[in-house]
Amino acid sequence: MLNGKSHRSPALGFSTRAIWSGQDPCPATGATIVPVYQTATFTLPDIGVTKGFDYSRTVNPTRSAMERQLAALEGGTFASAFASGMAAVAGATSLLSCGDHIIATRDIYGGTHRLFTTVLSRYGIDVTFVDTSDARETWAAARPNTRLLWLETPSNPLLRLCDIEALARLRPAGVLIVADNTFASPFLQQPLALGADIVVHSTTKYIGGHSDVVGGAVITNDREIAEQVAYHQNCVGAIPGPWDAYLTMRGAKTLGLRMRAHSKNGQAIAEFLAQRDDVADVFYPGLATHPQHELAKRQMSGFGGIVSFRPKGGAERARAIATATSVFALAVSLGGVESLICSPARMTHASLTPQQRAELDITDDLLRLSVGIEDVEDLVADLGCALNSVPELARLRTAS
Ligand SMILES: *Cc1c(COP(=O)(O)O)cnc(C)c1O
Repeated sequence: MLNGKSHRSPALGFSTRAIWSGQDPCPATGATIVPVYQTATFTLPDIGVTKGFDYSRTVNPTRSAMERQLAALEGGTFASAFASGMAAVAGATSLLSCGDHIIATRDIYGGTHRLFTTVLSRYGIDVTFVDTSDARETWAAARPNTRLLWLETPSNPLLRLCDIEALARLRPAGVLIVADNTFASPFLQQPLALGADIVVHSTTKYIGGHSDVVGGAVITNDREIAEQVAYHQNCVGAIPGPWDAYLTMRGAKTLGLRMRAHSKNGQAIAEFLAQRDDVADVFYPGLATHPQHELAKRQMSGFGGIVSFRPKGGAERARAIATATSVFALAVSLGGVESLICSPARMTHASLTPQQRAELDITDDLLRLSVGIEDVEDLVADLGCALNSVPELARLRTAS
């Protein structure tokens, strides 16, 4: 639904908006917390007259409340919620027509890559993948029919950044900029304020924050874009149910608290890994050694909870480490309160060809951590144990 009305003042702080935007008391009962309106249909006072709701695919009060909350978190006016992050990605691409062209960050989320290359391509929509950390190279790929620039920053799993503000400043006329802000979350990065036109989220990750609900959202300040996305939302019907909306809304209230804790733990883990001599590379925008650390400081208000690293000793050692942790669970996904470890080459990015992975530098010995908000001493001890339990073979060989 279009929900430009009634969200609380954008001048309020992030957590105040997270807790109060869209959360007006129930007009019928005064319930302080938005009820789960588990209903498909709404009884009308008269033919052609509604109280704002007629059928839950089109609009549902619990979903509308969450949409107002999510819009407020991004400093946006309009939000449409979807049944998954991928449904939200598809919602944003509903702005395209046959013959249009997309420029996209090379290392975008695998599901988005798959949608662009195997589905949109059949509808006559072309995509060019570029290194969006270079604004000039990015816009050099523009064609007369380029309609979207699709950005992910930081990227997955190697935490590469692109400068949203510079890309927006140099954009050719008629190109819309979409930022998938899932990795950073609206607490750490506000793409609309930096010049993006549309923000897309998998709310499954940091916004929901508890790994218990799948969802997505498209947020914008542009009424025409919002109307078209809302049209697609109702037309295709990939909507979240009221319980999913309720869980996401409940999770999002603590996003500020959680992101501070994720960032603090992420920094500690990255520094711990960086000082170990059995670790070859650590990827984390909060490390001074990250090639875009200065950009990260400018563009983000914290560095988040995703840390990737390459232990020394090759793919076999990496595999052994990934299965040796006891606090970090071996699982895909990210952004929940619990810590996860995964092997991108074998798990999240397994659908890419070996050649595509090589181009993106997603080697078999790379590990990705989604650092949760447990006690950081436990996380450090767990990783330390896992690393120590799998000695670096090369070093053993040299020693003997
Ligand atoms: C997970 C994810 C998606 C897809 O979201 P789902 O909720 O799994 O459909 C899209 N973009 C990014 C960056 C993601 O991490």
